[in-house]
Amino acid sequence: MTGGDDDARGARIRPQNRPDSNWPSGLDVDAVVAGGWTPVPFRNFVLKIFSRCDLDCDYCYMYRGPDQSWRDQPRAMSRAVVGWTARRISEHAAAHGLDRVGVVLHGGEPLLAGPDLIAHTITAVREAAGPRVRVDVSVQTNGTRLDDDYLALFARHGVRIGISLDGDRAAHDLHRRTADGHGSHARVTEALHRLSGGPHRALFGGLLCTIDLRNDPVGTYRELLRHRPPLVDFLLPHGNWTTPPPGRIPDDPATPYADWLAAVFDEWYGAPVRQTRVRVLEQILTLLLGGRAGPEGLGLEPTAYLVVETDGRIGQDDALRTAYPGAAATGLHVARDAFDTALRHPPFVARQLSAQALAAPCRACRLHRVCGGGHYVHRYRAGSGFANPSVYCPDLYALISHVRRRLTADIADLRTAGAGAA
Ligand code: SF4
Repeated sequence: MTGGDDDARGARIRPQNRPDSNWPSGLDVDAVVAGGWTPVPFRNFVLKIFSRCDLDCDYCYMYRGPDQSWRDQPRAMSRAVVGWTARRISEHAAAHGLDRVGVVLHGGEPLLAGPDLIAHTITAVREAAGPRVRVDVSVQTNGTRLDDDYLALFARHGVRIGISLDGDRAAHDLHRRTADGHGSHARVTEALHRLSGGPHRALFGGLLCTIDLRNDPVGTYRELLRHRPPLVDFLLPHGNWTTPPPGRIPDDPATPYADWLAAVFDEWYGAPVRQTRVRVLEQILTLLLGGRAGPEGLGLEPTAYLVVETDGRIGQDDALRTAYPGAAATGLHVARDAFDTALRHPPFVARQLSAQALAAPCRACRLHRVCGGGHYVHRYRAGSGFANPSVYCPDLYALISHVRRRLTADIADLRTAGAGAA
């Protein structure tokens, strides 16, 4: 991006923090383009191949949130939509010279789509992409249907598997239950045993754990470790300034989520042997050291993924549904719109503007290059849209500061040791 911070064009691009400005809906995309912004092509495509779920988790952003548009979606993605989507991915990769893209099979619960549709989708996307584009496929599942047949299917197609697990039986079944109230922990851990301990372990992508402050952080982390995950993704529960997450009182200086994750950090970082990767903690370490941490959650990397719904509508991050009905919609469809059209859609543009897309308090914050204003979804406030710091701001500041203190102390020790050895 070019242009001075205080020029008039910048004023039309940056969030203004006015209570009547539902940013980025008024974003002047022409001004952004005139300022030299170059779109970053989409590299990851989330395909919602099935729009219903066999669980009824009480924190689900899809079924329990304000956006109930899933009710209008067909249950499964049709083969026609799969075909259009495959061609759009191929077209986008060719237009931008991409030699590698990622496809995430998602839902609802994607395994409800059945093995035939799953195999067909993977094959269609790879065939359309051709031999010059590598298509990395992963699936994010609740794990309840992950049997030997599915494992064999995923092994044949080289699909990485991510599973949602919130901790031990009590922690997991607190939220992740069937519609008639039965916990899913037993079935999920059975599937994990099959995946982690069997011949298909190489397919294990990691565990997704949504934080509940009532669960002990170190106990939860150790429980997840029992399944030997290569990666743990701790998720902050979705919420925003208008609908705050559990235990997060907007503007309250208390930092319960930072305290929770800091306890995990101390356990993980202080372990004599690295037992797994923890995405959010690795991201903070990498960003503090000046590196790049990828587009999700923290830092200032441009967002470069989109969602295709079962009916072919092109959407943004599904978690935006927690803000208001229609927040994730674009009005675009794979049958008529190229993904390049989505690249000029104001919300996608806004999420590629790095520091320029941050609210004024974030731009002034000394940790903004690491924090990046937090997850975009958590910035929403009715009336001002996404032109706000994260509702988790005190937690993010405290957690990053905690990691920074530990890192700074270790670097100082290394320097002292180096000086002593010289
Ligand atoms: S810590 Fe708070 S003010 Fe600083 S960048 Fe993050 S959300 Fe913004």
